Amino acid sequence: MNGQTIHSLLDAAAQETPDAPAIRDATGRWTYRELDAAARAFARWLRGQGIGRGDRVVVQLPTSRELAAMFYGTSRVGAVFVPLNPAMKEFHLRSVVGNAEPKLVLTDAPGAPVLRRVSTAPVHDIADVRPDLAPAGEDTGAGPGETEAVAPDDLAVLIYTSGSTAAPKAVICPHAQVTFACRALTEVLGYRPDDVVFCRFPMSWDYGLCKVLMTCVARCEIVLADGESDLLLLRRMRETGVTVVPIVPSLATMIVRLAGRDTGPVPPVRMFTNTGAALPQSTIDALRTRFTGARVVRQYGQTEAKRITVMPPEADRDCPDSVGLPLPGTRVLILDDDGSPLPVGEVGEIVATGPHVMAGYWRNPEDTARSFRRDPRTGQPLLHTGDYGWLDDDGYLYFQGRRDDMFKHKGFRMSTLEIESAAMDIPGVRAAAALPPGDGHGLALFVESDLDAHQVITELTKRLELPKVPTVCRVLKEFPLTLHGKNARRELAALLEGNGA
Ligand code: ASP
Repeated sequence: MNGQTIHSLLDAAAQETPDAPAIRDATGRWTYRELDAAARAFARWLRGQGIGRGDRVVVQLPTSRELAAMFYGTSRVGAVFVPLNPAMKEFHLRSVVGNAEPKLVLTDAPGAPVLRRVSTAPVHDIADVRPDLAPAGEDTGAGPGETEAVAPDDLAVLIYTSGSTAAPKAVICPHAQVTFACRALTEVLGYRPDDVVFCRFPMSWDYGLCKVLMTCVARCEIVLADGESDLLLLRRMRETGVTVVPIVPSLATMIVRLAGRDTGPVPPVRMFTNTGAALPQSTIDALRTRFTGARVVRQYGQTEAKRITVMPPEADRDCPDSVGLPLPGTRVLILDDDGSPLPVGEVGEIVATGPHVMAGYWRNPEDTARSFRRDPRTGQPLLHTGDYGWLDDDGYLYFQGRRDDMFKHKGFRMSTLEIESAAMDIPGVRAAAALPPGDGHGLALFVESDLDAHQVITELTKRLELPKVPTVCRVLKEFPLTLHGKNARRELAALLEGNGA
């Protein structure tokens, strides 16, 4: 069981490297010993509130060292951590709280009134309970009954996925799956004890949450920078000495833009790691120009399996269109619509199998049955991602887009991704999102650029076959983004509605 529960990762780090820096936020810094003490204090408080194995603890708080301690502390008592984005509004909170049925809710002064409206469980304001969370000096051992009840198959976290039209749904993340994926990622990405990892993502997204665990596995330090001002980004990267920066394309574009204007020394970044959406080649090139020698690692993942493929960092310039190899100990299959395996080079649905595949959606049997299946022959879990791609002879995955991103238009099969990457290839285009022809509009493209729409279309005709050139092009000053920094496609589509575009 050792090493397969969330809190056991921290136990090991606190034992082996108690004085190593573990975690830093805008207000201070903790070693592994201090993080562990804060986690144990939170566990003690939870127990005092009657929280135990399997109870859901909803936490809607900004990212901080304290929040990371709560994550480990919740695990320690066998309860289920349910981190919600502080930006989540009452409309979604209502359905999320109804679905999670928490036994306890923890938030801050701005969040408390709303959560009290939507929850029948006790809602605590962190400001009131903070005095009870002070670590007790003698509280260092596991203590009787503290942890032995927690099993690797127990549910550790519910991650609510955002951005769909329907109510958010929660991915069931058991301890074993989460710890397996985090260990595998730490290994393939080669995190080192002297790394400083800059995390700009909320802990309500598995991308941010798992960074806390991965740095713990590597005994290195995480800088929590979610919620800090964009303008301070580069300064913060510099003063914290960051060496690894997880990105999504919109964050990468911002870093490139800020670095272009910055006059100070370049932060010592050795590696950028991207997931969430495809990173355009032009952004990769710009990162390499600004941060000489830095690796830019492409990856592909879904919360439903945490991460599916990673490009080995030392091969970041090989197979430039690939998103890498399956995590060690896992496999990627490419299946046709009937579920039969397709040969190398053929495009089909990306299906992941291995110990990283999560355990379904919480209280949602229909969606679980659709995405989480079992191989009828081997009984292995199969995650049907709904994404399309192909494998080459060496097992590298090439991502083609979501099922919804692939479409047939004027007799051509195409994907929004290829249109977006052609647009991003145009100098002066900072962001691009293509929408397939839909209700009342043709093939559309949104760009963030100083060029005008006509110039963008002219440049696109030099790069794409004519049917793939959008009939509508809109230039925006700023792109609407989801809470995780991905393009907010529904909001973009709404901009087209009603204008006869
Ligand atoms: N969770 C995925 C990853 O870490 C990314 C995503 O959810 O889009 O790769």
